[in-house]
Amino acid sequence: MSVLITGSVALDSVKTPVEEHHDLLGGSASYASVAASFFVPVNMVGIVGTDFPKKYIELYRKHGINLDGLQVAEGQTFRWSGEYEWDLNQRRTLSVCLNVFETFLPRLPDAYKATPYVLLANISPQLQRHVLAQVAAPKFVVADTMDLWIETQRDALVELLRQVDCLVLNESEAREFTKQTNLIKAGRHILKQGPKFVIIKKGEHGCLLFANDMFFSAPAYPLEDIHDPTGAGDCFAGAFTGYLAGRDRIDHHSLRNAVIHGSVIASYCVEDFSLTRLQSLTQSEIKQRYDLFQSMSRFEME
Ligand code: AMP
Repeated sequence: MSVLITGSVALDSVKTPVEEHHDLLGGSASYASVAASFFVPVNMVGIVGTDFPKKYIELYRKHGINLDGLQVAEGQTFRWSGEYEWDLNQRRTLSVCLNVFETFLPRLPDAYKATPYVLLANISPQLQRHVLAQVAAPKFVVADTMDLWIETQRDALVELLRQVDCLVLNESEAREFTKQTNLIKAGRHILKQGPKFVIIKKGEHGCLLFANDMFFSAPAYPLEDIHDPTGAGDCFAGAFTGYLAGRDRIDHHSLRNAVIHGSVIASYCVEDFSLTRLQSLTQSEIKQRYDLFQSMSRFEME
């Protein structure tokens, strides 16, 4: 099984109260693809400019990511910069330069069109729909989104919801989209709009998985060493979709395990800037933290 992932490919500048780094590899497709690559082969769809560093292409290749769908266009790569406060849940976007993304019209290589699992990582819902329309008969489609699209492309997002199996979004986005303060009501509200499953991420506090006949609350991993939360949500979505594709089974058991694997990879991602920590991540470390997640939430009747 394989997964097709589209989203942004970016050069990020990230500032925390203690560190600052420029021209890091970022973008939703970068994080999600590397995260998914721990579970299945990945077909990436995106665009970069001619300034995109070769070392980042090498990084994707090291993870076995298929880059036939990564266009290189004349111009500059998408750039984003953000700043975190001492409370690392609070982030301010300082600048966004769409650059080559402004005219991006993704065309899927023929070999990608039969990919069974699809992750529409965070980009505009219009582009997400454009990519999805080119996939022949997807088995399971996951979409991520952000506040910007809720505010500026709500109709396209609502349309997209009718075409996907699972929507992943964070708690403030869920509240903004549904105009509900309560997350349980928000999750149920989104289920009525099309997707069979909804995942609401609560940052360092875990996440909630909703289906019409199921509810699952995944615990938070008690991380002490967070250096850069950027991309945690994208890693979650990538690992979640990659894990499901690897199992090739959509049942409650696999979905719960996919949520935990998403949380595991996201928890490693934030231990360093950009994709640095995932470069050295091993399958045995993934298993170790998976076991910890399991033991943290197990309890027996007295
Ligand atoms: P996250 O921390 O999960 O919100 O994802 C952070 C990543 O999203 C960064 O690497 C950015 O390059 C990327 N990003 C920021 N703004 C946008 C946008 N408007 N569209 C697509 N990707 C974005």
